[in-house]
Amino acid sequence: MKIVEIHLYSHSLPVKNGPYKIASSIVHALDTTLVKIVADNGLFGWGETCPVGPTYQPQHSKGALAALGEMAPGLMGADPLQPLAFRRRMDGLLSGHRYAKAALDIAAYDVLGKHVNMRVADLLGGAVTERVPSYYASGIGEPDEIARIAEERASEGYPRLQIKVGGNRPIEVDIAVVRKVWERVGTRVRLAVDGNRSLTTRDTLRLSRECLDIPFIIEQPCNTIEELKAIRSRLHHGLYLDENSEDLNTVIRVVGDGICDGFGMKVTRIGGLHPMTTFRDICETRSMPHTCDDAWGGDIIAAACTHIGATVKPQLLEGVWLAQPYVDGNYDAENGVKIEGGHIKLPTGPGLGVIPDESLFGEPVASFG
Ligand SMILES: [Mg+2]
Repeated sequence: MKIVEIHLYSHSLPVKNGPYKIASSIVHALDTTLVKIVADNGLFGWGETCPVGPTYQPQHSKGALAALGEMAPGLMGADPLQPLAFRRRMDGLLSGHRYAKAALDIAAYDVLGKHVNMRVADLLGGAVTERVPSYYASGIGEPDEIARIAEERASEGYPRLQIKVGGNRPIEVDIAVVRKVWERVGTRVRLAVDGNRSLTTRDTLRLSRECLDIPFIIEQPCNTIEELKAIRSRLHHGLYLDENSEDLNTVIRVVGDGICDGFGMKVTRIGGLHPMTTFRDICETRSMPHTCDDAWGGDIIAAACTHIGATVKPQLLEGVWLAQPYVDGNYDAENGVKIEGGHIKLPTGPGLGVIPDESLFGEPVASFG
């Protein structure tokens, strides 16, 4: 099979009940980038990548379009049925830019699944559940407000909550938020406290020390691996890497050096579903819990995250985070990916199991082939 066309789309996703506020940014709307690849037998597949604005990580939406445009002409004739060869071909056309390659990787798996009439989860090793756990990220807010949200989400059935902390405010407020949430939800849900790289080592140590009695993991509190390494032995809580776990090489390094206890991982950051399976297998080898998230985006990336999440050993899966609660509507009105009762139903159709209504995206911003 050969790829004969690649189409790129840009689509705005306003934040429902927004803005969404994390330490590094306040998000009102995001431009997602969609990729449609068409094969010589008429089969087509979709991919998507949507960074959470330009400051969360080095990735940004215009960078995705530029990187995809750079690679697309050289991918004509590539075989979407061979994910490893396809990835090597992308690497031969452009260094880095894993978040753009992820969209193409996902689209190729969608084609492959449709071709062999299998779901992506089964292509990635086999689904171990049809109901994938999610988790809810609170956004940054005041103690009473976040505690109320936490209580509501716990009652809805979310097995895990992530409390956002940090930004330009005193650590006392963050400690008060964590305490209030803990008072309201207790052990009904697992807790993660996410600093999104914004805390100093001093404040991270204080947060951990003053919440000794509360069982949570601390996610990416500081900006660099060096800072985390410096305080690691003085923390009273498990430490997860998110933004710093940029690629497989970094994952191997930090696992080998014992710098963290788990990961928040994004399918787009690591380069797509193919490298994500390698990441999953490294984590299983060392019994490291992790998430399988998107950064932001709609049904396509949500389906991809749910498919890989469904293959993770259940005791190691910290959940699949989706932007869906913050996004109005679905690309696929019938099979759109939704969180219900804190869990996500694994799509059942071949490939990603989601067929977007492409009229939503307007004309392609670029077409190749
Ligand atoms: Mg995070």
